[in-house]
Amino acid sequence: MTAPAKISAATLANLAKIGIHHRADLLLHLPLRYEDETQLVPIANVEPGETVQVQGIITHTEIIFKPRRTLICRLQDNGEELYLRFLNFYPNQIKLLSVDRKIRAIGEVRQGYYGLEMVHPKCRAVGDETPLKTSLSPIYPTTAGLSQTTLRKLISNALEVVPATDYLPEKFRSQLNLCGLVESIGLLHNPSADIPASALTDRTHPAWQRIKFDELLAQQLSMRVHHKERSARIAPALPQQRHYTEGLLKILPFALTKAQQKVYAEISLDLAKPHPMQRLLLGDVGSGKTIVAALAALQAIENSYQVALMAPTEILAEQHYLKLTDWLAPLGITPVWLSGSLKKKDKRIAAEKIASGETWLAIGTHALFQEQITFHKLGLAIVDEQHKFGVQQRLALHEKGKQPVAPDEKSSEPHQLMMSATPIPRTLAMSYYADLDVSVIDELPPGRTPVITKLVSDARRAEVFERVRTACMSGQQAYWVCPLIEESELLQLQNAQETYQLLVETFPELHIGLVHGRMDSAEKIDVMAKFKIGELQLLVATTVIEVGVDVPNASLMVIDHSERMGLAQLHQLRGRVGRGAAQSLCILLYQKPLSELARTRLKVIFENTDGFIIAQEDLKLRGPGELLGARQSGVAMLRYADIDADEDLLIHARNIADALLRDYPEAARAYLHRWMANKHDYLHV
Ligand code: ADP
Ligand code: MG
Repeated sequence: MTAPAKISAATLANLAKIGIHHRADLLLHLPLRYEDETQLVPIANVEPGETVQVQGIITHTEIIFKPRRTLICRLQDNGEELYLRFLNFYPNQIKLLSVDRKIRAIGEVRQGYYGLEMVHPKCRAVGDETPLKTSLSPIYPTTAGLSQTTLRKLISNALEVVPATDYLPEKFRSQLNLCGLVESIGLLHNPSADIPASALTDRTHPAWQRIKFDELLAQQLSMRVHHKERSARIAPALPQQRHYTEGLLKILPFALTKAQQKVYAEISLDLAKPHPMQRLLLGDVGSGKTIVAALAALQAIENSYQVALMAPTEILAEQHYLKLTDWLAPLGITPVWLSGSLKKKDKRIAAEKIASGETWLAIGTHALFQEQITFHKLGLAIVDEQHKFGVQQRLALHEKGKQPVAPDEKSSEPHQLMMSATPIPRTLAMSYYADLDVSVIDELPPGRTPVITKLVSDARRAEVFERVRTACMSGQQAYWVCPLIEESELLQLQNAQETYQLLVETFPELHIGLVHGRMDSAEKIDVMAKFKIGELQLLVATTVIEVGVDVPNASLMVIDHSERMGLAQLHQLRGRVGRGAAQSLCILLYQKPLSELARTRLKVIFENTDGFIIAQEDLKLRGPGELLGARQSGVAMLRYADIDADEDLLIHARNIADALLRDYPEAARAYLHRWMANKHDYLHV
């Protein structure tokens, strides 16, 4: 039996950086890709884009200094030449690559200025008889200061000294037709030359399937454990008292849709339990989440608990404030408004009302959860557009409401309702969000007509202008959304101001407003209010209006340079129209040439109105990382599995997780330990 390799402190520190804390972690540190050093490709046959191993004689070596210090060598094989180029190099490399040396080089071939070249190839000197390798060479994810060679040595030592016990009960393994774990790990670290490299690189090989399954299973287990842990924590039980809630339903000018009734019933049941609710309310833009939030708030208030409603932008928070004031005033409840831009004195007054318990409902931006604010008795925190908030903000919110129930007892925490119009694709819901309870509003209020979407080339901008004018003159209201300029917020602002100027000059007969992120909030709110009551006919806006803005009379939207925007953003923006009974139109102005990605996005948004389908397409285009948004930094990302491509494995993992927890608790614990022990865990926020 081999002894465990000694590891220096510096190497340990580097290993920690890449998530390796225990020797056993090395086994699951799997290659990103493989280099094929089992073959030699004649230089005459190499093609740009391929990663290959070549062999030849160095015929020329020089260091040039312009445009920057570079070592350039020519490698010749059978009369054909290839350039080797190094931007960083050491004296021993210059020596290795001196003229007449016989060299084996492996790297990606590309078309250089002088001809085909490899940049920073891996080179070694060889003799006439140096044999080729017999297995593919793994390339591991690593960090500066930790070489592939060191990693390889440590991993092959770990493979000998650490037992890679297969915890999956044989019953499931054969049922799912999976390979053994031990052989899978061995194979992936050391694949023999006859395995098709492509099956390894695109991770379709059965050994990869097994690893990905294990990873997904561990994720399922951890989500379930979390969910269960939550039911051991304490929150105030807030059952429906049918006082304010019934009162609001009576005065509401509309009846709840079936979907709204269903989700409110789910929330209502959760609130009645003495454990913290963590429920995500999903509903496409315009599906009517606000009224559901209002009902949930009233249920807490009926039980003499306070409620906080937080929105990611001032515009949206203000809009909630106005709407809820409207709805709740007849019931004798006056919400308090709190945002970062309030005057000091007003902020203090609001804070006092919140601290004394005089206020039942506080509405605002994340300012609600700053240190100076203490709630008297917070029972429910509602977060609108939750994906726009960061983990830190949600953590602050979580801490805010904690209060001791009695000395020496566990503290009680508020219930949480998170709302989002960004639908979670099915696979994402099954994986990263599996610890939350989810309610879905899957129907729009009656009387809406679907928005018509048109794609119009920028060349026809003048026609679009005319269309805006006609619409406004006939009593409709319109948005003109200015392009997103990712590199510079300032440029974006400038563009919005110029567009505004141009529209004002072109259409002196129209009342036009401008709203953008840099305006102070009083101004912003003033403009929005004027648009809402119809005093303004056309609103020029940056993407600040993306979330939540609700002006039902607006029925035309122009999105300038729509090719620059993401799918979720386009869908959100388009959702600002089509909220009233009038036929609405969304014009997507685009500028050619379109990138492949932009073309695909515009096609998806043109062909679909269903937010769930759009989100599914978005997941395909962007991967889960970005869609997860804020959650991403709080949840352990999957390293190997791809929830979209590996949906089948995900479903199997989900199906097996419960049985494993119930019948094989030891195995479940071992799985969690192996895969999750090192993961920081913000899941509870
Ligand atoms: P979102 O889910 O995008 O937040 P809102 O809550 O802003 O949607 O609702 C969109 C619009 O639909 C609002 O003007 C709201 O008052 C209205 N609304 C909500 N529910 C209904 C309903 N059941 N019947 C008619 N209109 C409704
Ligand atoms: Mg909303």
